[in-house]
Amino acid sequence: MSRVLEIAGLVKSFGGLTATDHVSLTVESGEIHALIGPNGAGKSTLINQICGELAPSAGRIHLAGQDITRLRADERVALGLGRTFQITSLLEDMTVRQNLGLAVQVREGRNFAFFDNVARRREIWDETDAALAETALGPRAGVLVADLSHGEKKQLELLMALARRPRLLLLDEPMAGLGHLESQQMIETLAAARTGCAMLLVEHDMEAVFALADRISVLVYGRIIAVGKADEIRANPEVREAYLGE
Ligand code: ADP
Ligand code: MG
Repeated sequence: MSRVLEIAGLVKSFGGLTATDHVSLTVESGEIHALIGPNGAGKSTLINQICGELAPSAGRIHLAGQDITRLRADERVALGLGRTFQITSLLEDMTVRQNLGLAVQVREGRNFAFFDNVARRREIWDETDAALAETALGPRAGVLVADLSHGEKKQLELLMALARRPRLLLLDEPMAGLGHLESQQMIETLAAARTGCAMLLVEHDMEAVFALADRISVLVYGRIIAVGKADEIRANPEVREAYLGE
């Protein structure tokens, strides 16, 4: 197994507050690694340092063996880092299929190339339709994004992030605000995608975490207090007390 992500001693301070306090963790290829912890633990601060939105106060980040600590966010994307963008990246007055088709093209660095090459255009739509057909969004392909439910928009956002074929996908609470059925569909889409890309999954929904995660890290007050497989984390007394509320 090769290592997709390695974080070593990552510190981020906001004034007197240490939001991530010497955090180290790894994500191996093909792994879904969940990061759990109470509100304010530093989960989003960690994700934002990995994607390049926040500069760490100390520590290193390696993606597939390359030091990306000082790279810009777009340079990290070019090296295979993916994330979802809380719906804001969707084009509301285009259909589900058109939005996903654009994401497939962007991966190829051929923005708005719909009109210049018939064979290439066919490939883009074939890939788009195949990806849609495997999900609950299939029957909604022709619907305008503006007419989708919140859960459907989050599904589409995920499919668009996957269409870029990242090495590592960062997910910050993908189940937030979803109903039970929509959560199930999101879990299915993530499970189907796991062979193609590794994931670092921040999530409060423990059903989703236990269904998907190969390993779980527990972050409390900026520090990792435990790492392990689901059964080990469930059985850990420190975790039960600090997070699971038992
Ligand atoms: P989580 O995602 O685990 O709920 P966050 O990473 O959002 O936690 O926040 C961790 C801590 O850092 C919190 O105490 C939060 O108030 C603080 N924090 C986060 N972002 C900032 C910021 N830009 N400026 C100051 N404090 C921040
Ligand atoms: Mg957060």
